[in-house]
Amino acid sequence: MNSPIDWHARARALSIRSQAFIDGAYVSAASGATFDCISPIDGRVIAKVAECGEEDVDRAVKSARAAFVKGTWSRMAPAKRKAVLLKFAELIRVHADELALLETLDMGKPIRDSVRVDLPATERCIAWYAEAIDKLYDQVAPTAPTALALITREPTGVIGAIVPWNFPLIMTAWKIAPALAAGNSVLLKPSEKSPLTALRIAELAISAGIPEGVFNVVPGFGGTAGKALALHMDVDCIAFTGSTATGKQMLQYSGQSNMKRVWLECGGKSPNIVLADAPNIDRAAQAAASAIFFNQGEMCTAGSRLLVQESIKDELLEKVAQHARALLPGDPLDPSTKLGAIVDDVQLKRVLGYIDIGRGEGADVRVGGKRVREESGGFYVEPTVFERVTPSMRIAREEIFGPVLTTITFKDLEDAVRIGNDVIYGLAAAVWTKDVNVAHRVARELRAGMVYVNCYDEDDITVPFGGYKQSGTGRDKSLHAFDKYTELKTTWIKLGE
Ligand code: NAD
Repeated sequence: MNSPIDWHARARALSIRSQAFIDGAYVSAASGATFDCISPIDGRVIAKVAECGEEDVDRAVKSARAAFVKGTWSRMAPAKRKAVLLKFAELIRVHADELALLETLDMGKPIRDSVRVDLPATERCIAWYAEAIDKLYDQVAPTAPTALALITREPTGVIGAIVPWNFPLIMTAWKIAPALAAGNSVLLKPSEKSPLTALRIAELAISAGIPEGVFNVVPGFGGTAGKALALHMDVDCIAFTGSTATGKQMLQYSGQSNMKRVWLECGGKSPNIVLADAPNIDRAAQAAASAIFFNQGEMCTAGSRLLVQESIKDELLEKVAQHARALLPGDPLDPSTKLGAIVDDVQLKRVLGYIDIGRGEGADVRVGGKRVREESGGFYVEPTVFERVTPSMRIAREEIFGPVLTTITFKDLEDAVRIGNDVIYGLAAAVWTKDVNVAHRVARELRAGMVYVNCYDEDDITVPFGGYKQSGTGRDKSLHAFDKYTELKTTWIKLGE
């Protein structure tokens, strides 16, 4: 039998990649600047990471463009690109424990989740797009017989991928896997709060056979490295995941520069609607708890608004509260921990700030509400459940991005749908009911990109992921993601008489 892994011992022995990865090699930032990478587990500095700026981004764009024009990757036969990307996925599997450890050290999620969720999902995503790319066909239009009109897809060119910190590797894979599979060159700007796994997989990409310049990683801050990337005149597309406020800036940067394509995966405030005829209240309660507490609530799809029909409010809420009380934040490197650290001090203050705002607005804290484990030096918050929340309160309208559930009651179906839709976001939504007619009706009326019926957060790489309204544009995952990384070309060929 294998003995359990001592993750603390492994963490002490870890060597961390902290330089930028440009043109196939690790390099310091041109300015020589670095920034502290702080582990939210204990507040300690674990690496000094290259702080890229405009000059580094420009170097990486030049390298990416040169690789694209040269065509070693962009014009490689899809079956060969597939083989390289499958090798890349395999190397991620071989190094899964190390990458899981880096992910947990860097952003504080429980090691059990990094091992069981983040790493397998990352590997599967890359392998899935690898497998897909030599099975896609282009089209011939049904024109008159005097012409042949080809409808083909071509790689867009140089893609800037800007990602957040809540699922650093998975968000990276959702962007780079379809972008690379389609033949593009990619510059990845990881979040300054979680750059380590992105930097490590860059060398795995090279080992797998991805040519130099095709995949670059430029760590740094949003307002400098991210902005330089989004404003660059030779970047063809920005694929962004992050907050709605930053997403709006991406649209402006595009307009101020070269009208690059902009795809946005932004925030959410998703309603989880439980009707009195829900098929199983225990399951609904458990799903409601994990919809907001998994990954410390740092989830774009978090079911952060629990909308419950008045007649079952007491029963449901007591069951949700029991789950919350049982879920104490613990050491993320302990494999039994199910709730880890909040990513950093700034996010911790934001979450605690919203808890204060909720209290000030007149909502009641039923469970939690406090910072804990302060003696560790890290950033931990109890799972928190608010009740007596009204739809106009800020805690019911704004994305908190932490383990804080707001509970709102409703009278009838119309009420539930109206409240469900009454926010600026439209990422996910759920409805719990036995009635198949009601399920379909509500699913249609909810203005959200993803609706779950009698479940929450179902997930598969084959299914598109993304939102309506200010939750974004375009879709990650599935074959639809190729739309983001390819241009549609039509070629008319006049046929002789
Ligand atoms: P954020 O917007 O602060 O940062 C996201 C990325 O953008 C980071 O890499 C950051 O450095 C960069 N950035 C910030 N300002 C920039 C600027 N002015 N120019 C260029 N780049 C800039 O978001 P965050 O706090 O890292 O992530 C949390 C947000 O991400 C939440 O709103 C969450 O809902 C959202 N999210 C959405 C999805 C989705 O698929 N819809 C998935 C995960 C997270």
